[in-house]
Amino acid sequence: MTKKIIYAGIALAVLVVIAAIFIFTWWPALQGNIPSTNHPHPAGTTEITHGDTNKKQVIFTFDAGGTLITSAPQILAVLAKHHVTGTFFFTGKMIEAHPNLVKEIVAAGHEIFSHTYDHLDLTTLSDAQITTELSKTESALMAATGLSPKPYFRAPYGARNSHVLAVATQDGYRSIYWTVDALDWEEPQGETATAVQSRILSSLAPGNIYLMHIGDSITGKILDAVFTTIESRGYRIVSLTQGI
Ligand SMILES: [Zn+2]
Repeated sequence: MTKKIIYAGIALAVLVVIAAIFIFTWWPALQGNIPSTNHPHPAGTTEITHGDTNKKQVIFTFDAGGTLITSAPQILAVLAKHHVTGTFFFTGKMIEAHPNLVKEIVAAGHEIFSHTYDHLDLTTLSDAQITTELSKTESALMAATGLSPKPYFRAPYGARNSHVLAVATQDGYRSIYWTVDALDWEEPQGETATAVQSRILSSLAPGNIYLMHIGDSITGKILDAVFTTIESRGYRIVSLTQGI
């Protein structure tokens, strides 16, 4: 009888431990939007250039920094079709110009982070200007959605140095770079959809962070086929916070 009680006690303890592990590790990820305080990589000077390279999964990020949102409707449709949580980096200016799009992105469960306010080269700015670029973007996103973009930002043009990263860290951010630049943004210079698609697929590797944009028309045209091919190769497509 005593033995039975001891076994039951052990079984109960094991169940409690399993439930606790689930709640603290998997449950927040399943919810999509993790509160910024729970992000696996909070503010810091070491930037992130790829996700977990031990997992057969990749991260697609879509920057909104110019003035156009040409591919946005197709991107959202493809993310929904493939049940993928997307990751967006918006400038404050683009948030203010397209608040309904930003609301739609958040309502669909996607992640949205800072691409600074004016899309300037941060390495040419003073500390105070860098801080303003980040804080104005946070205010814009808070006004549109009630969410903060912290702790992640992406430097416009990928232009950053150790000084920019140090200032951003003090402001509560960590830089997100990329593994593969799809070069969709070179469409005005003659880059083709075919070339962008083969660049993405030929570089496919665990943990890749892909840089794409919502302003060009290439991304919207190829994204469905790109996702279908990547998934057929046994990869999952995950969001930034799911994949790093
Ligand atoms: Zn940009």
